[in-house]
Amino acid sequence: MNGEWEGGRVGAPLPRFARAELDFTDGTRLVLVDSRALATLDVHPAGVDLALGLGPDAADPAWTAEQLGEALASRRGPIKPALLDQKLVAGLGNIYAAESLWRARIDPRLSARELVPSRVKKLRQAIARVLDRATGSRYTDDDRVKLDVYDREGKPCRRCRTPIERIVQAGRSTYFCPVCQAD
Ligand SMILES: [Zn+2]
Repeated sequence: MNGEWEGGRVGAPLPRFARAELDFTDGTRLVLVDSRALATLDVHPAGVDLALGLGPDAADPAWTAEQLGEALASRRGPIKPALLDQKLVAGLGNIYAAESLWRARIDPRLSARELVPSRVKKLRQAIARVLDRATGSRYTDDDRVKLDVYDREGKPCRRCRTPIERIVQAGRSTYFCPVCQAD
């Protein structure tokens, strides 16, 4: 969850924490700004199929609830780790997976394959809302106060005031409300 692209004109002063600059022939440029220097940038020849094995882009509006449901139906194990598998969906990190499940009122421990279509649809909508909200805002530790559930262990759920719980799934922290994400 580091780094963002900032548009501008070639030759303008570089922003603080600029890590890479792409100049275009029309005089515009894109600058990779990353205060923590954790982003990586891969450069490949044009037209090469990278065969990265990535699933659909989580931010792609063309990615449907039906596709998500099909992918989940063949999964073993709980929903939350499944959402972090980049082969199932690309670009949904640990924070946004937790936020999406909270928004869709889904227990992160629920078996991925047991999610019925109506709830898959809610989850797909929740992912879109969470990513919409994240886009355009520089995402730093300071912004965690804006999160609904992530990193809020012991704090009251923003919907029902129940203390948020933290568990570990597949080595990653999962935050959820035990009341409004009870199934
Ligand atoms: Zn709650």
